[in-house]
Amino acid sequence: MARIVMKFGGTSVADVDRIRAAAQKVKQEWEAGHEVAVVVSAMAGVTNQLVGYVESIAPLYDAREYDVVVASGEQVTSGLMALALQQAGVPARSWQGWQLPIMTDDTHAKARINNIECAEVRRRMADTREVAVVPGFQGLSPVNARVTTLGRGGSDTSAVALAAALEADRCDIYTDVDGVYTTDPRIVSKAKKVSRISYEEMLELASVGAKVLQTRSVEMAMKHKVRVQVLSSFDAAVGSDLPGTLVVDEDEILEQALVSGIAYSRDEAKVTLLGVPDRPGVAASIFGPLTRAAINVDMIVQNISEDGSVTDMTFTVSKTDLARAVKVLEEAKGTLGYERLVQDTNVVKVSVVGVGMRSHAGVAQSMFQTLADKGINILVISTSEIKVSVLIAAEYAELAVRALHTTYGLDAA
Ligand code: ADP
Ligand code: ASP
Ligand code: MG
Repeated sequence: MARIVMKFGGTSVADVDRIRAAAQKVKQEWEAGHEVAVVVSAMAGVTNQLVGYVESIAPLYDAREYDVVVASGEQVTSGLMALALQQAGVPARSWQGWQLPIMTDDTHAKARINNIECAEVRRRMADTREVAVVPGFQGLSPVNARVTTLGRGGSDTSAVALAAALEADRCDIYTDVDGVYTTDPRIVSKAKKVSRISYEEMLELASVGAKVLQTRSVEMAMKHKVRVQVLSSFDAAVGSDLPGTLVVDEDEILEQALVSGIAYSRDEAKVTLLGVPDRPGVAASIFGPLTRAAINVDMIVQNISEDGSVTDMTFTVSKTDLARAVKVLEEAKGTLGYERLVQDTNVVKVSVVGVGMRSHAGVAQSMFQTLADKGINILVISTSEIKVSVLIAAEYAELAVRALHTTYGLDAA
């Protein structure tokens, strides 16, 4: 007998029939004698709709109120899932994020989980075999007990955090693909499913845009050694039959590919500050205010100035943070002393990831050559130990990902 957390994403609870089908999967695990907790996302499209309402009323919204609105999608699904389980003869009860509670920090719209109180849920799982249904994405801030959300895709993180708190044997992430692939199977038909992927590679792939798992969920799984597997809710099998992709320690993988995956992110915006005075401390004075506004900066290039007096600074932020980043920088224009700010949202970041890069040179060069052969211009480059990322014009995203998939020998036969 195992203790399992089962998470169902938006398409897996898209309508009442899908919720019933997901409840049947829970029932199967429950009938096999496992202790089960369920984490649900909002029904497909609901979060986007809620975000749309918020943005149409307030483009530069107050994140506290954004959280009040967008957290509601998951609340609906959790009640429906508890009802569907009850109808199927499985004892079930929903627990909202504020109710357990799932304590986070106060960073609204991208809060981090600090602690989950689950003694009562655990007692019920053991004593009466009741299934706990927890809405993903939601948490509770210690400041005025306000509702927080964990950032887009955050239900994965709720599930892994709950699995860690419950000391679960497994966290099964049910989604609309049957595992982790070498790249997004929706844009490359030759993408291959991998049966195992290391935490490190999954973390890097997630952080550069492979949205099959939210980055923080992988971080948390790695830290708490939670056994995560990605599965399809559209398959007949359940997680106990292990048909998906297991996220494991690097040493559990026998053969390491040089490049294990390719990801892309359309959630990028490029900002260039032209004519920034070139003096010590200039980068700190630009990025300081952005950090204080909880805006993450990703790729950065500072051009060398010709005469040493002014320089240009280019960097990327998430599209959702762009309007706030521009506001912060415009407010600081007097102190920063730059001449002009240029923004561009017509960009995509394409990244190749693989632990094999640690010991093999040449991955970046073959990436640049492949893109050159296709006539794709590189705007910004960044690298880490196991990743190379480039920023290119948005219209080349699919062409670039397909070409690179072939270059690194990842195409399925
Ligand atoms: P859910 O709503 O279940 O959380 P998401 O849409 O967040 O699902 O994530 C699943 C999607 O991730 C897939 O439909 C697929 O298009 C995308 N994806 C991107 N990269 C990958 C990858 N390397 N492997 C599998 N899926 C990927
Ligand atoms: N519903 C939220 C979103 O769409 C969280 C999630 O689905 O993981 O981002
Ligand atoms: Mg998701």
